[in-house]
Amino acid sequence: MPIYEYHCKSCAKDFETLVFGDECPNCPECGASEVCRLMSACGFVSKGSGGQVTNQSAGASACSGCAATSCNTCGH
Ligand SMILES: [Zn+2]
Repeated sequence: MPIYEYHCKSCAKDFETLVFGDECPNCPECGASEVCRLMSACGFVSKGSGGQVTNQSAGASACSGCAATSCNTCGH
């Protein structure tokens, strides 16, 4: 089972948790459900000088609200 890293948008805590399927965890620190999944691909997303997002990871979508590349977990 995969372990994903999440970032809490409420208290800014980063945490790792086991995730089953599309389950969306709550923050262990403050209990908020406003968490973003951090994926390894996010390190390859860079923003250009024109404010446009240059996405070098095929098939991924960039999120302007967080560092996650999977925006269905954070609503952006
Ligand atoms: Zn939190």
